[in-house]
Amino acid sequence: MAHHDHLPDHLRRRGLMFILSSPSGAGKTTISRMLLADDDEISLSVSVTTRPPRPGEVDGVHYHFVDHVEFDRMIAEDDFYEWAHVFGHRYGTPKGRIRAGLKEGQDFLFDIDWQGTQQLYQKDQQDVVRVFILPPSLDELRNRLMARASDSEAVIDSRMERARSEISHWDGYDYVVINDDIDEAFGKVREILAAERMRRQRQTGLIGFVRELMS
Ligand code: 5GP
Repeated sequence: MAHHDHLPDHLRRRGLMFILSSPSGAGKTTISRMLLADDDEISLSVSVTTRPPRPGEVDGVHYHFVDHVEFDRMIAEDDFYEWAHVFGHRYGTPKGRIRAGLKEGQDFLFDIDWQGTQQLYQKDQQDVVRVFILPPSLDELRNRLMARASDSEAVIDSRMERARSEISHWDGYDYVVINDDIDEAFGKVREILAAERMRRQRQTGLIGFVRELMS
């Protein structure tokens, strides 16, 4: 938990909760991966889900995969910041290490839908930064979903339906990025994160620094 012990006092800051939402296939997962690889001050908030793993998904890395009994137990023990039904499965954000991490200057990345975003924002407006990724078109979105090839035609149709409804919540976000080109979109997301880290109210070390400066 000594995350920012290496920083000079004046650079100390509170961490933030960086939410990336988009319809599936709009590039959110790719952008998340690029961000996590590029920046060691941000780590992924790994969600808990009752959905079965897709090929290649690793328990504890992409999700914590649990059964309904375990999910119910976590609800009962108030282990979730928020949870929601999506495509007939349940998904939730475990509180775990997030609260302590934020205090230590650790940032967390959330790959969650609009319902989760609303709930997180209601719980903690100050720490939340909400970014929505849009596909350049719905045709392109369908192409990307088909290229993924792990889902049946019926599932793709239901994801397209779901995409329309997810997109209708675009105005509940602080920032919107159209993912026409993945590298460009990633660059924009990185700039948003950089600017948000410099918000005055997150820079807890500044109080002492300015006091010193003026004395
Ligand atoms: P997928 O099954 O494709 O991994 O995710 C389906 C949807 O569930 C995505 O829109 C994703 O953002 C959302 N989701 C994933 N984890 C959570 C979570 O912890 N809470 C909420 N509310 N949504 C989540």
